[in-house]
Amino acid sequence: MTFKLKKLTINLENYNIMQTSNQILKTKFGYESFRFNQEDIIKTIMQKRDAFVLMPTGGGKSLCYQIPALLFDGLTVVISPLIALMKDQVDALRLNGINAAYMNSSLDTNEISDIYEQLNRHEIKLLYVSPERLLGNNQLFLVFLRSLNISLFAIDEAHCISHWGHDFRPEYRLLSSLKREFSAVPIIALTATADGLTRDDILDKLKLKNPVVFTSSFNRPNIHYSVEPKRKMYEQILIYLKKHRNDSGIIYVLSRNSAQKMADKLKADGFSAKPYHAGLSGDKRNKHQELFIKDQVKIIVATIAFGMGINKSNVRFVIHADLPKNIESYYQETGRAGRDGLKSEAILFYSGGDVIKLKRFAMVENNPEQTRVMLHKLSQMATLCESNACRRRAILNYFGEQAPDSCDNCDVCLTGREKFDGTVIAQKALSAVARLENRFGLTYVVDFLRGSKAEKISETHKTLKTYGIGKDISKEEWFRYFKDLISFNYLKQVGSEYPVLALTEKSRNVLLGKEKVFLVKAVAKKEITLSEMPYEQELFDKLKIVRTDLAQKENVPAYLVFSDATLLELSTYLPQTLEEVRKISGFGDIKLAKYGKIFLEVVFNYCAERKLASKINEKIPKR
Ligand code: ADP
Ligand code: ZN
Repeated sequence: MTFKLKKLTINLENYNIMQTSNQILKTKFGYESFRFNQEDIIKTIMQKRDAFVLMPTGGGKSLCYQIPALLFDGLTVVISPLIALMKDQVDALRLNGINAAYMNSSLDTNEISDIYEQLNRHEIKLLYVSPERLLGNNQLFLVFLRSLNISLFAIDEAHCISHWGHDFRPEYRLLSSLKREFSAVPIIALTATADGLTRDDILDKLKLKNPVVFTSSFNRPNIHYSVEPKRKMYEQILIYLKKHRNDSGIIYVLSRNSAQKMADKLKADGFSAKPYHAGLSGDKRNKHQELFIKDQVKIIVATIAFGMGINKSNVRFVIHADLPKNIESYYQETGRAGRDGLKSEAILFYSGGDVIKLKRFAMVENNPEQTRVMLHKLSQMATLCESNACRRRAILNYFGEQAPDSCDNCDVCLTGREKFDGTVIAQKALSAVARLENRFGLTYVVDFLRGSKAEKISETHKTLKTYGIGKDISKEEWFRYFKDLISFNYLKQVGSEYPVLALTEKSRNVLLGKEKVFLVKAVAKKEITLSEMPYEQELFDKLKIVRTDLAQKENVPAYLVFSDATLLELSTYLPQTLEEVRKISGFGDIKLAKYGKIFLEVVFNYCAERKLASKINEKIPKR
């Protein structure tokens, strides 16, 4: 009986906690319902248990400690690796009327003493600090913190503690003493790092007390993945950019030189683009990053050095102009798109030449073991690009996660594939390989088949009967057919550095007309739109301008005023009163009071001119 009673009390407590956290979610952040396991995570923290949260980028990790911070009496200390990230989070909280602050080397002494005073008066709910500020310098700061009531430590980007992770920061090592120093204060560690080795290492290093581990799927359903053959890459990029002039995006390249060149070219072609690479001064890099974050520059052409400090939620596309060196990097880099949950694109330009180039980088001198690992990872990346299987599934399987065969949101799954009798095509391909005596690579064979006039095709070859018999088929199509012929074993590739095409045992029957070959033809791809629901594009663009103006006045990035997701909801559901605006995701009490009228007026006038009515009743609670 007592046991039952006790359980009931605990449940009642839980119930109260969840009721108040739901209220905070709505009134402070303007969101309708919790996502993934946010609710369970918050419950765990409120029971003062340690938690380890693995959630993909854009999943909503911040709320998992921000809501407990508001529920607890004392102070929540958030450890974050970068000044830019701290500032971003604090600005976002302040816009929602929550008193948060950060302490780092960017502040002057006056600002710092001001924060100390506010902390002493218990006015600050969340304090963002770097690990060295928290635990370095003879732990002076720690001594001060002991005089306050600390309710929770949140360790953001927790993978920085592990040298297995993609972004090791030695200062994070200091955090291993946190649990010893504050054994009664719960710790929540959060990361979007997907690989198992790093996860285990984080738990080991942080010495959390019997933590509850929360894992979400690493799937990013709103990102559309596609791989295109890299040939006239710059032209292909231009075609894409011309269709997406209002969108922000990142183009990743391998070298400083190509970053600089591509940014210059894009500028000359009338695009708003800036480079970001290690060859630029720190000031210049910060400046370019800032312009990008504030939407004053639309495109950043970057080497991999770009991205970690980026919380920008409305990155609509990530283009890889060069091949990433492994699937982890590909996932991290493409993951910078679509944090706001709206549809976004990840486009990769693939060529076998890139694989050869990267192989050279993968060779670690005097370390055959590491070289082997790097080469293996590279070949997994290449396989992802070359295969005809769902890209999302390939990514998720790589991280040890199950996934359905088809995702309906990658180039492979969205390209209709029609099987047809391709025997004649196969015969042309195989006889070309035979005529060239199994001594030439894929590109040469395709150029030969298409009757290329290029000098690299030898004069003798130009006199052969097979030369030019495949003119009617485009280069892209030939590459695809060859890929299939290889995967069905009608042909093979021999040699690793400069592979050549060669016949197999299966080739003979095809050449003799004794075996039929079935190939698949690609049919037109579906257009990708921002949303499944119809929305007013013109209104959406207008609202973006209003948002930019407000953001400039407040001196914060536009996406912190409202995310693209909020503007999209406004242009979909067309609210006509402030009460209706309240139902739009992202309008908490403070933002409604501050910005509600301004946005309502724009929507209202737009609808009046076009005789459009509110559709707010069609809105299902947004997650
Ligand atoms: P992460 O840190 O996991 O990358 P964030 O905490 O920055 O993700 O959240 C990504 C975006 O999703 C933010 O704009 C955030 O406000 C929004 N968000 C988080 N939780 C919810 C929710 N329950 N409903 C609607 N939007 C949410
Ligand atoms: Zn797919």
